[in-house]
Amino acid sequence: MQNKTQLPKVVKITKIIDENPVVKTFYFDISIDSRPGQFVMLWLPGVDEKPISIALDDGKQLALTLCSRGKTTRQIAKMKVGDRLGIRGPYGTVFNFQEGEHLALVGGGYGAAPLYFLAHEALKKNCKIEFIEGARSEEHLVYIDRLKELPNTTLHIATDDGSVGFKGYNTELLKKVASENKIDRIMTCGPELMMQKVGEIGDSKNINTQISVERYMKCGFGVCGQCVLDPLGIRSCVSGPVMNSKVLKMLDEFGKYHRDDLGRKQYFLNPQKDACEPGCGNSAQSECG
Ligand SMILES: Cc1cc2nc3c(=O)[nH]c(=O)nc-3n(C[C@H](O)[C@H](O)[C@H](O)COP(=O)(O)OP(=O)(O)OC[C@H]3O[C@@H](n4cnc5c(N)ncnc54)[C@H](O)[C@@H]3O)c2cc1C
Repeated sequence: MQNKTQLPKVVKITKIIDENPVVKTFYFDISIDSRPGQFVMLWLPGVDEKPISIALDDGKQLALTLCSRGKTTRQIAKMKVGDRLGIRGPYGTVFNFQEGEHLALVGGGYGAAPLYFLAHEALKKNCKIEFIEGARSEEHLVYIDRLKELPNTTLHIATDDGSVGFKGYNTELLKKVASENKIDRIMTCGPELMMQKVGEIGDSKNINTQISVERYMKCGFGVCGQCVLDPLGIRSCVSGPVMNSKVLKMLDEFGKYHRDDLGRKQYFLNPQKDACEPGCGNSAQSECG
């Protein structure tokens, strides 16, 4: 479904998986011919339309993994199998890799979901995968069972409280994995401060590093200008969400602030503005998101 008209297609929810207390995955029996890294605009009529990364599009099913965060995602979390949502897209840039490469995928919180789609597709191209997932604690991890089933994939888990896996941040695990293996590319999705650290590690080891940047979006296809990034003025919905770490280094705002629906700066380290939803799964090093 390459939606050239930019109109949403109304689709029925066919399955819902509870991933953790505030994260759910919604399945739809459609394919939109998307690639890992891309996103859709998900429409809840009468409420709002929001960008959501594609967590699987295997030709039969489309999956979207949502964290209950504000007015739209909380309403969607209450929906049941058989209820309908609007979807338009796919939009945005993709994660790039070559046949047979050794990839390190670093996910935080619900960011592991789009990386699962990436792993699923990269395995078709004979890639070898180190999947590094981090969360606050065991109960906040997502997709673990599905990741364990993937061939040619080593799963590395980090939790802040040490309830499972390495005690600490997943970026520490990345350093270890990247020093013990010849990694061709690093791809990451999750809290911005985590991704900033991943970018620093990748750059310091001269490894191509691709980062999925999340900004408040309204149209999703480059018209409204809501998601422009300072100071370059590039729109993250069309030049992103996946960008190279070297481009992100040129952006003053990456790792410092993002803008809300009215364009006001929201600093990542402001605990008042950036407090995490309890149980969201994102590590304490970050904002919820
Ligand atoms: C490319 C892209 C992919 C995304 N993929 C996913 C995904 O797979 N799963 C998922 O759960 N969420 C994803 N998001 C984030 C998701 O779009 C927001 O969480 C959602 O818009 C919140 O909507 P809401 O109405 O529930 O919350 P609101 O009431 O609109 O907002 C709640 C709070 O979150 C802030 N906020 C909202 N959207 C963003 C944003 N995009 N960046 C930073 N802060 C924001 C608001 O300023 C406010 O403080 C993605 C965002 C982008 C840009």
